[in-house]
Amino acid sequence: MSELEGEGRGRLIVLSGPSGVGKDTVIRRLLELAPELRRPVAFTTRTPRPGEIDGRDYSFVTEDRFLAMRDAGEFLETAVVHGNRYGTSRSRVDELRRGGQDVLLKIDVQGAAQLRGQGSDALFIFLAPPSAQVLLDRLTCRRTENPQEVAVRTRDAQREMAEAGNYHQVVVNDQVERAAAEIAEIVRSHPG
Ligand code: 5GP
Repeated sequence: MSELEGEGRGRLIVLSGPSGVGKDTVIRRLLELAPELRRPVAFTTRTPRPGEIDGRDYSFVTEDRFLAMRDAGEFLETAVVHGNRYGTSRSRVDELRRGGQDVLLKIDVQGAAQLRGQGSDALFIFLAPPSAQVLLDRLTCRRTENPQEVAVRTRDAQREMAEAGNYHQVVVNDQVERAAAEIAEIVRSHPG
């Protein structure tokens, strides 16, 4: 757990949800509604998608570099998602929170479980689809993944959905605007 304690530090908000639920779209709108939220750039071993920029969307690193960082204790949490490694930098989060800034993490259910296990003071929010069929449709329509990737993400999505009950709040992404506004309100009323 972070060694940071005391007054004045920013809050930690964790947002999880299955692949295809629309996390990125909701987060984009949420950041307009709650511009005080900061997102530290996470590390991943996955290949950048077209249009993604290193240092903005993720810090893209090799497997060796990732494992060296993990072994040096540089990650607050790590996970393997769809066969790729992801990790949140401990120092990036701590610096922001120490500066009094609220931090938003988009992490999968494994990472969230690690933070919970560390006794993190985070607010845990789960973004859920209106139905399993809607999620399947979204995963199938997305053009960025090939059929094998879609199959992996569908299987992982079912596992992720089973974790929803471990979160403080579950928000249904029936409409981006409504879901983002609900999350903004939850964050605003969270004492920290
Ligand atoms: P994508 O590669 O599509 O951006 O993200 C795939 C999944 O990885 C998403 O479910 C997202 O929540 C998760 N993810 C992204 N960054 C992190 C991270 O730093 N830690 C963990 N645990 N999961 C992450």
